[in-house]
Amino acid sequence: MKIALVTGGTRGIGSGISRALKESGYLVVANYNKDIDTAEKFHEETEISVFSWDVSDYDSCVRGVGEVRDALGGDVDVLVNNAGITRDSMFHKMDPTDWHRVIGTNLTSVFNMCRVVIPTMREKKFGRIINMSSVNGLKGQVGQTNYSAAKAGILGFTKALALESASKGITVNAIAPGYISTDMTDTIRDDIKEKIIGGIPVGRFGKIDEIAHAVLYLADERASYVTGTTLNINGGQYL
Ligand code: NDP
Repeated sequence: MKIALVTGGTRGIGSGISRALKESGYLVVANYNKDIDTAEKFHEETEISVFSWDVSDYDSCVRGVGEVRDALGGDVDVLVNNAGITRDSMFHKMDPTDWHRVIGTNLTSVFNMCRVVIPTMREKKFGRIINMSSVNGLKGQVGQTNYSAAKAGILGFTKALALESASKGITVNAIAPGYISTDMTDTIRDDIKEKIIGGIPVGRFGKIDEIAHAVLYLADERASYVTGTTLNINGGQYL
């Protein structure tokens, strides 16, 4: 059974990805950061193992992946780098702490997690890495210089690591969701939400399952010729 690790996998988009992977026959592990109540509830509902560590910290990732290996007795085959945060503000008011937090959690985390799992993927000559970017990494967004930079950085990282890994049976791809209904987008003011929806050809926010479905495709062994690409799932927004 293939082992799939989903960061930020206990709520929002990540929880949908974890559930979908489990339903498709993977042995799934969901990482989270601090929301232990949600993680425990998720575990009770799904029986998916949950592990807490901070993906923005390299040593925590080494420890966390080590714990997963000890618990499951195997190495990660599919890594979904999904954990992310926003700390929005206009750039001229942006606190340096919010810059570093967003870059650390959304971008450095991808380095950290890939750096920890890639040696065993190279040994096994198999791996699937799926990095969660965003439509706002492609087109930019007011109030999100930090988030847009991190999500754009993921795209370059994905292409470069895909090139390095192509001959080792490892694919590295990104997904760039548009607006998906989760806790993250619940914080958007209603009037702004209406404005955003007005610019989405499909006329609504996306659903978690619509992202999870794409992860299943990219994680599949048969997706072996798809690498270094970005899948835009955004209801038809022009980029
Ligand atoms: P949520 O806010 O609903 O969930 C975020 C998850 O990431 C939580 O499980 C959280 O853990 C985890 N997390 C946050 N920081 C860390 C950390 N330092 N270490 C480990 N885990 C962490 O987010 P969404 O489901 O909305 O978003 C998931 C991904 O999709 C993100 O990368 C986001 O940027 C991206 N995305 C989302 C869009 C949307 O419209 N929702 C659109 C485009 C991209 P905990 O539960 O412990 O807090």
